[in-house]
Order: sequence, then structure tokens, then C-alpha cells
Amino acid sequence: MKNSWEANVRKVTPYTPGDQPNRPKMIKLNTNENPYPPAPGVTRALKEFRTDQLRLYPDPKSSELLEVIAAQYQVKPEQVFVGVGSDDVLALAFLTFFHSEKPVLFPDISYSFYPVWAEVFRIPYETPALDEHFRIVKEDYYRENGGVVFPNPNAPTSLAMGRSDVEDIVRRNPDSVVIVDEAYVDFGAESAVRLTDTYENLLVVQTFSKSRSMAGMRIGFAIGSPLLIRYLNDVKYSFNSYTMNRLTLRLGVEAVLDQAYFQETTAKIVKTREQAKKRLQELGFCCLDSRTNFLFVTHPEYQAKGLYEALKQEDIYVRYFALPRIDNYLRVTIGTEEQMEALYVFLERYMSRP
Ligand SMILES: *Cc1c(COP(=O)(O)O)cnc(C)c1O
Repeated sequence: MKNSWEANVRKVTPYTPGDQPNRPKMIKLNTNENPYPPAPGVTRALKEFRTDQLRLYPDPKSSELLEVIAAQYQVKPEQVFVGVGSDDVLALAFLTFFHSEKPVLFPDISYSFYPVWAEVFRIPYETPALDEHFRIVKEDYYRENGGVVFPNPNAPTSLAMGRSDVEDIVRRNPDSVVIVDEAYVDFGAESAVRLTDTYENLLVVQTFSKSRSMAGMRIGFAIGSPLLIRYLNDVKYSFNSYTMNRLTLRLGVEAVLDQAYFQETTAKIVKTREQAKKRLQELGFCCLDSRTNFLFVTHPEYQAKGLYEALKQEDIYVRYFALPRIDNYLRVTIGTEEQMEALYVFLERYMSRP
């Protein structure tokens, strides 16, 4: 090391998000964004937003947003926590609840931010392997640990666990906090929110980024027992009381209130996903049984990396992970029907080359 002060720096290998290129005609199927705009009420509220309000600090409690989320999920406002995307909520939850000498457990193939938070907060962790079908083996989490976290549905595998399996993991871990990251739950999986009535140590985390078309706004939330939420708030208020700004809070409320639009757009994505699965299978791909807004696919004859590069040349972006066990898979976000059509057309052409 060149400078002696560098010995005292907290060094981390940061998370690498998917590419965020932004060209007008590109087809962006690489970061699981929603292809549809936010609810009409969000646009209306944005137009009506009075900028003179920005002089004033926002409500540090985010009360109005907590209340609409609580009403929607039939819990009390003191059972809800909101943050700057679920990444913020998850990071705070790691910091708050994973404070043990024992290792935190999460799957080997999972959201690649978990090991990054564990490293930055110096939390020991172990990563039980998914089985050969990429399923979480619940029994792997029936042992001493400093906490458990997993996405359900899992990413990037797209596979969901049933509520009773999630419950088994929670029930077997009365001595630690179990975090279920439900970023994709609205696309056809069973939520564990109801289980928070029974288990004081269960925290369910969700986001507005995928099913509510608001990745650019940054809103995530957690539902849990009032005690868990109180602990989370204590940590949050210990370094920034005003994480949620006034505009975000206002638009977030509108996004929750329009339940009909939410149902309609998520149903449309699920329908497109099932069509996509059929079309890709016709092209020879194997697609896992997705309960998310993406498909995790592999092809017996074409290398994933080559396909990824070829698609990129066409300005069609999908996600490729150069990681053990999944380096021959592609994660394809479900776009509009037109975007998906362009994907099939390209793949058909590519695969019929002499
Ligand atoms: C997208 C995603 C998140 C984070 O979403 P935010 O945009 O930060 O709300 C968290 N967990 C998983 C598994 C995700 O895929």
C-alpha cells in the first residue's frame, strides 16, 4: 500500500448493477424493470406537485405512505418501514438484525448484493448451495446461524418456494431474524406477509421498482412485527432521518392507491411471460418455472455468453452472469409484447444461420 492511511480505510468490493445504457430504440431486458409506466395517478400527482413545498423537510416518519401500505397489506402502520428502494431497506436490515458472531445464511445463487452488504458490515456469512434444480433446500437453514435471508421468488433463478416451506424456515429459526426478500412476489408467488402476524422475527421486504413500475423513484418497504420495525427505525434515525423526500412520498402514495392498474399491469406481464416461455421453448431453450417478471433460460446448443453478445450487437440487452453454475444461463426481463417479439425474431434469425 502506498499511503499509510490506507490501512485504516474500510475497503469493499462494490456490487455491480446491470448495464444502464439508454438509447432510444434499444430493447432493455437486463435489469427487471417494468415495461409499463407508473399508475396514471402518479403522473397526475407529479403535474400537480407544488415545488414551494421543497423548502421544507419531509415527514421523517413517512406517515402517509406507511398508512396506505398498511391498509393495502392489512397490517398496522407500526408494522411498516419504508426506504430508498428495497436495497436501502435490506442494507439497514442487515445492519440492524445481523449482529452476531455466527454466520448469516443465504443461498449460493441469489441476489448478489447480499455478500456485498455482509462484507461492508463485516458480517460473517455462509452460502448453502441450491440443489441441482436450483431450488432452495430448506433443511440447510435448520442450523445455528446469525440470521437468514433469501429472495422468494429467488433471483436470478426465478423459482418460488411455497408459503409453508417459508414458514418452516421461519419456525425453525426462533433465535434469529429471517428476512424474505419479495422483490418479485407480485408476479405469481405466495407472500409471507401474513406470517408476520405469527412470527415476531420475520421481516418481509418488497419494492416499488418492479411490480409498481417505479425503479427510478426508489421506494422499498418492509413489513414485520412492531418490535422489528422499531429496531429498524432506531438504526435509520441514527444516520439519516430524512431518507424519503417529499416528491417520492407523494408519488409513492398514488402508486399504492391505484390497485386496479397494479393488477392489470402485473397480469399483463405474467401473460407475456407465459407466452415468452412457450416461444423460447419452441426455439429450444429450457426455461425455469418463473414466478417473476423475468425468465432464466439456457440452450443446449448455444452458449449463453455468445447469445448475450449477439443480442447486444442488436441493441437487445439481457443479463449474463459469469458465475459458477449459472454461466450458461441468461436472465431475460419480460418486456412489452412488441419487445419480446423483436427478441424472438432476432433469435429465430440467429439460429437459422447456415
Ligand atoms: C430488484 C431487487 C431488489 C432491489 O430493488 P430496489 O430497486 O432497490 O427496490 C432487491 N432484491 C432483489 C432480489 C431484487 O431483484
